[in-house]
Amino acid sequence: MIVAANFKMNKTKKDTISYLKDLKTIDFGNVKVAVFPPFTALLEDELIGAQNAYPEVNGAYTGEIGLEQLNEFNIKRVLIGHSERRYVLKESQEFIAKKFEFFKKHNFEIFYCIGEPIEIRKKGTEAVINYLKEQIVGIDLKYEKLIIAYEPVWAIGTGISAKLEEIQEVHAEIRKLTNRPILYGGSVNLNNIKSILETPNVDGVLVGSASLDVETFKEMIEIVKEIK
Ligand code: PEP
Repeated sequence: MIVAANFKMNKTKKDTISYLKDLKTIDFGNVKVAVFPPFTALLEDELIGAQNAYPEVNGAYTGEIGLEQLNEFNIKRVLIGHSERRYVLKESQEFIAKKFEFFKKHNFEIFYCIGEPIEIRKKGTEAVINYLKEQIVGIDLKYEKLIIAYEPVWAIGTGISAKLEEIQEVHAEIRKLTNRPILYGGSVNLNNIKSILETPNVDGVLVGSASLDVETFKEMIEIVKEIK
């Protein structure tokens, strides 16, 4: 099982150092834990991954960081295609696929996010699956360091997670395309994490809001440790 924390644009470097110290007071057992802090809080630590990065070593890309900056912290894990980057920052599938290829070439573990907006969900499962297929164009689903995260846009940060049947249905369809781990993300909290993780083809969770409190995140890891 995999449990990942996405801090988004929250927390400072100081907060992140203290968060990691606290987090590491528990034994993770067989759970793989990942933490994605903002750029300013990147640290040399095996748990840390970057929320985003530009697909170049370095260069004239104002406001971005690339491989050279990640290498300084020995970071080998990156999040690509998060819905906030797709819809708020307007990243195209072509650009996202370019990032994927670049970080695959550099042997990164890639947490690759896909998810449909509410207007697609309202059209039903077939529309959802077709939409998700467009978000994997140009992505090597056999890449051995790929971790997929299914995160319906309407469930992110809303407090309304997808229903278990919806998660089950979508994950089963994604499973037909890849044997890599499939995480669910979207308003995962202490109350719903167990049932979500007991759903077939759910190999872990990507947690935003609920991960910001280290005690909650530690409790989540404890719950995940108990799941067979
Ligand atoms: C996310 O941003 O990846 C996420 C799942 O957020 P939240 O848990 O707050 O819905």
